[in-house]
Amino acid sequence: MTPGSDIRFITEPSRSRVFRAGWVIKDPWTVLENTGVVVAGGQIKKIVTPAPKDASVVDLGPGVLMAPLVNAHVHLELSALKNRLPLGQGFALWVAALLRERDAAGTPTLKTAAQKTAASLQDMGVGLVGEISTLGITSQVLSTLGLAGVWFKEFLGDEEEYLGDEEQDLYIKKQVPLSFSAAGHAPHTTAPQLLTALKKRTSAAGLVFSIHVAESDVEIDFIAGTPGGGWTDFMMSRGIDTSAWPVGNKTPVAYLHDLGMLDNATLGVHLLQVTDRDLDILAQTETKLCLCPRSNQNLHGRLPDIASLLARNLKPALGTDSLASCDSLGIFDEMAFVRQLYPQISLPDILAMATINGANALGLGQHWGTLDTERSAQLLYLDIKARTPADVMEKVTAYGI
Ligand SMILES: [Zn+2]
Repeated sequence: MTPGSDIRFITEPSRSRVFRAGWVIKDPWTVLENTGVVVAGGQIKKIVTPAPKDASVVDLGPGVLMAPLVNAHVHLELSALKNRLPLGQGFALWVAALLRERDAAGTPTLKTAAQKTAASLQDMGVGLVGEISTLGITSQVLSTLGLAGVWFKEFLGDEEEYLGDEEQDLYIKKQVPLSFSAAGHAPHTTAPQLLTALKKRTSAAGLVFSIHVAESDVEIDFIAGTPGGGWTDFMMSRGIDTSAWPVGNKTPVAYLHDLGMLDNATLGVHLLQVTDRDLDILAQTETKLCLCPRSNQNLHGRLPDIASLLARNLKPALGTDSLASCDSLGIFDEMAFVRQLYPQISLPDILAMATINGANALGLGQHWGTLDTERSAQLLYLDIKARTPADVMEKVTAYGI
């Protein structure tokens, strides 16, 4: 998809306006013809069908007006590594190359690339992000651009000293439009006591906690306690003793559940390898989920079972991971990929993954994700022609093709 080719991103106008379009997607199940969206004070006040005709109405054209898309899982800070890492040669090689290339690039280069990439997100229709930052270098990038969402400082190993003093904690802050929260990297890379300490902190602040889970074979094997594999030795070589971690005979999802990590304010990312019992746990705990199918395909040659998640009434969001494992950070592209690879998933379900599920996954469903009253007046206009509501859904979900 060419960024910005037929997209107009309308940033929350503070004064009262009525935006009219040929079609308005209020939510993935409600497509309205010739409709006006009344906004004031940065919020949607009401939806009017048919659209009023007075001179104050801003007529955007015959296309589609909708909520901006949500990229619920991205690593902008790895943008400089685009096309620099081996894909399709195994996850271990990719990770090793990532660490090497990231160090070689250096902070100024990583920051510049993150800045440039973040600045292009709205041109691709993305208004809300869940950014994962291991190095901590992208918070300013997002703040400066006025991007909405959650910036997650990601923790690995057992480095609890990074948590700092409760009063002096710089990273945990709930605010609009951008909150600052914490993420654990994964069950096999972040110490259990650090995970629970971080989760306690984000819960107290009313924020979502994010973690990659059930992604790679090495993670599955280590948490299951499968002998060999070398992960214990690798961690020890990095100075991390995993001998007291409560792993063995369980899945990553069950492991996190046993630690008390799973609830409706935890965002599990990937879920590539899950059992029926895992699905039960995720459903019972109302854990939020985010899937990154294009990245999964590139790194693992495997795709998440979206139909099984939807069948349990789990409502996955979409993310892209980074440009180190995915061609673009566009969610129109991710939707188009899902459409092509999962023909059995309904179009409203796909659009929900890209919008309301993403907003909910970041704990921001009250403010973003649909064009309901009191939601953000950030709007997305697509200059496309459609004949019927069904045609609108066809064209919007295939827009990235
Ligand atoms: Zn990731």
